[in-house]
Amino acid sequence: MDPRWRFTTRAVHGGRIADAHKSVVPPIYQTATFYYDTAEEGARLGQEIPPGFVYTRWANPTTRVLEEKVALLEGTEDALAGASGMAAVSTAVLTAVRPGEHAIAPSAVYQATYQLFAQILPAYGIETTVISDTSLEAYERALRPNTRLLYIETPNNPILGITDLAGVVELARRQGARTIADNTFATPYNQTPAALGVDAVVHSATKYLGGHHDLTAGVIAASGEFVTAAKRYLRIFGATIDPFGAWLAARGIVTLGLRVERQNATGQMLAQYLAAHPRVAVVHYPGLPGHPGHAVAARQMRGFGGMLSFEVRGGYEAGVRVFEALRVAKRATSLGGTTTLVSHPASLSSVHMPREVREAAGITDGLIRVSVGIEDAEDLADDFGRALAVA
Ligand code: PLP
Repeated sequence: MDPRWRFTTRAVHGGRIADAHKSVVPPIYQTATFYYDTAEEGARLGQEIPPGFVYTRWANPTTRVLEEKVALLEGTEDALAGASGMAAVSTAVLTAVRPGEHAIAPSAVYQATYQLFAQILPAYGIETTVISDTSLEAYERALRPNTRLLYIETPNNPILGITDLAGVVELARRQGARTIADNTFATPYNQTPAALGVDAVVHSATKYLGGHHDLTAGVIAASGEFVTAAKRYLRIFGATIDPFGAWLAARGIVTLGLRVERQNATGQMLAQYLAAHPRVAVVHYPGLPGHPGHAVAARQMRGFGGMLSFEVRGGYEAGVRVFEALRVAKRATSLGGTTTLVSHPASLSSVHMPREVREAAGITDGLIRVSVGIEDAEDLADDFGRALAVA
């Protein structure tokens, strides 16, 4: 791998398996285990960091292709793949904090991440503060002498709030704490948090990395030291990715740059279209100059992404009517793939949040979240225009 290679060349050529048949596409090692010939070889393979492959829950050559691609794109020393985005999030968080220590996370994060910080970690003796805004002041106010982790999701779920990555890193370093950033919405094409000093980057590879709505996977990208520590937890928890899922994710990454470039352009166009629509009260998209995070996003992101949300005038009923009238966009959980997906957070994805937490996080009754796919932009504008008119 030539270190001068750019994003898509890295995405295509990064992560290879030494293959006797010189296959252009990496083979799928769909095996649970790997044999050895002597007890001595078995003992070597049984080491904490084995020199080869011993058992797929420990490591697998196809999974390594995915891990190497993500490490190359995020600019980190190493990466570790797991069975889902939440496997990556929970493993990374448990690698970074211990009982008796304190972690800070915003409420406006993916709902299962919110539950991890609000409910699961405190039950295991890890102190947490869930902050209702993602400003540097809010992180700073929540600091305690035993704070060891500042968790970031930017852009965040579902109102595309922006957190100043470099600012949070500086706060954390002063405190002797680590930072983890969920880079699922941005993708490494639009943003590389490790370049700004973030210690561990987590992804739901189910989303943009995989990109086709056909797999569930997660990745942690970090220093070799962090990944080695995380590997131990992931092996013990058993949140192993299946080799075929890893192969699909690695294959998806090959076209990540092409897809995200188009999704950036369509996201910007649709955000502008909706912002000008009389039936839309507000559009949340970091590429709009009026977005409160626009200046920070312009500084730390290469593109503003394919995620946006908008508030239909008329509250819950109006929001549901528009949501149900869409034809090109599909009503489905998830995001980041080839098909445009919409969700209505008030009725679905935020049911696990108390109402006051939900409202403080900006999840209002008429809010519709859009994950722009790769369809033709004009067909999407027509679909949203027609749905707003019908409703
Ligand atoms: N992080 C973000 C930002 C997400 O949107 C999601 C899922 O929607 C996750 C993490 C969890 O990913 P998974 O569903 O692959 O476990």
